[in-house]
Amino acid sequence: MTTEVLEAVETPPAPLEGEPAPTPRVLVKSYGCQMNVYDATRMADLLGREGYAETQNEDDADLVILNTCHIREKAAEKIYSELGKLALAKRARDAEGREMKIVVAGCVAQAEGEEVLKRQRAVDVVVGPQSYHRLPDLLRQAKNGRRLTDTEFAVDDKFRALPNPSRAQIRARGVAAFVTVQEGCDKFCSFCVVPYTRGAEVSRPVADVLAETQRLVDAGVAEITLIGQNVNAYRGADQAGREWGLARLLERLAQIEGLARLRYTTSHPVDMTQALIDAHESIPKLMPYVHLPAQSGSDRVLKEMNRKHGAADYLDIVRRLRKARPDVAMSSDFIVGFPGESDADFEATMALVREIGFASSFSFKYSPRPGTPGAARDDQIDEEAKSERLAALQALLDEQRRAFNDAAVGREIDVLFEKPGRHEGQIAGKSPYLQAVHVEGPLEAIGREARVKIIAAGPNSLAGRLVSEEAKA
Ligand code: SAM
Ligand code: SF4
Repeated sequence: MTTEVLEAVETPPAPLEGEPAPTPRVLVKSYGCQMNVYDATRMADLLGREGYAETQNEDDADLVILNTCHIREKAAEKIYSELGKLALAKRARDAEGREMKIVVAGCVAQAEGEEVLKRQRAVDVVVGPQSYHRLPDLLRQAKNGRRLTDTEFAVDDKFRALPNPSRAQIRARGVAAFVTVQEGCDKFCSFCVVPYTRGAEVSRPVADVLAETQRLVDAGVAEITLIGQNVNAYRGADQAGREWGLARLLERLAQIEGLARLRYTTSHPVDMTQALIDAHESIPKLMPYVHLPAQSGSDRVLKEMNRKHGAADYLDIVRRLRKARPDVAMSSDFIVGFPGESDADFEATMALVREIGFASSFSFKYSPRPGTPGAARDDQIDEEAKSERLAALQALLDEQRRAFNDAAVGREIDVLFEKPGRHEGQIAGKSPYLQAVHVEGPLEAIGREARVKIIAAGPNSLAGRLVSEEAKA
């Protein structure tokens, strides 16, 4: 819904006649998932068309957009403390006669709408994840004390309304890029706000995904990660109106010349089809790394979470993935302390983790989210127990991550180089398993894959040496 609030404010002076108006600058700060990272780049492209230049510095910014996350209470509260600081900066700016507009976008905007305007009077515009293509228009209207909210689930196609980035913009963002192929969620896990903030599952048409990927590769992008709240639920239409699943889309994208690597995230176990598992065997460009949230190892908790899969289903998927691609590395999300979770339930999660062995994982304390079934339960777990369980789970996951990194020492792997390293003469890139890798090497190797012998492993990165000076074209 688009609504507005009117308040009297002082308008900063217009530039003197004959004086060129300075280029306005926008700072987009993104929180939370990859979907938000992607949306932030599209907002920057959109505002670029309106004459804004991007800045990373708040002091330079005429417009600050907070692209927010609502998944856990902490994430949402962080936004209000950030807004408090921005309000002070805005007041200081007003005193200097310079304007600073503040926009709240993303899932907090969607979930709280006008409430954001009430809680923080310095905010000019609140815009949801499905309506940010209307930002330029909203900003034009947000003048002279007019403050607006637009949290509609737009009927027009947001993606088609967004401008394409220039080659220079794409290059500046690096050699690995995200492409959103699917948005929203119909799963309604009982702990999660996403179906309420992002709406129902929608897949982008095949032709749009192909065109966007081709454009990125033509500008020098070598790695594409297809993203979606439930990316493996992708069901996009081709030009004949036929539905493509994710496996078929990956197969087609792999034919793009110059594209070295493909990834996809985040997947739901229920949508992990055999065709997608087989794609890991048949598509060499598809990286052997799968992020597949399990959430819990207890069937009872999984049922109450409304996950629609049990621990055995999860283990079976991992078994089939490893059969298709023996070197596949697994990563996951876990929640500890879901209402009613007993010590035995938590032990079942630990047992699942021990059985699989993860390369990397995210783990969280359950956070009751308003409006979700989990939040209404009266068997919430106390904070102390949640903290203890989280510490035990994270210790195990850390141990597995270190073991996975240590196992790389002495091996030769392909690394896609992304940027100069922290030290002179160093370049940094990613292994097929998303590990950061540093080597001594030429800057010309950036943007290409090269064979690297791993010589040392730390908890968060690997060090190696180029096997051949020649980076793979
Ligand atoms: N669609 C993905 C799936 O089903 O696995 C996950 C998307 S969600 C943005 C990312 C992760 O946040 C979830 O996998 C879950 O572990 C975590 N999460 C979601 N709601 C949460 C809550 N209320 N408390 C704690 N963690 C939560
Ligand atoms: Fe949230 Fe579950 Fe949907 Fe993932 S599948 S986005 S956890 S409701």
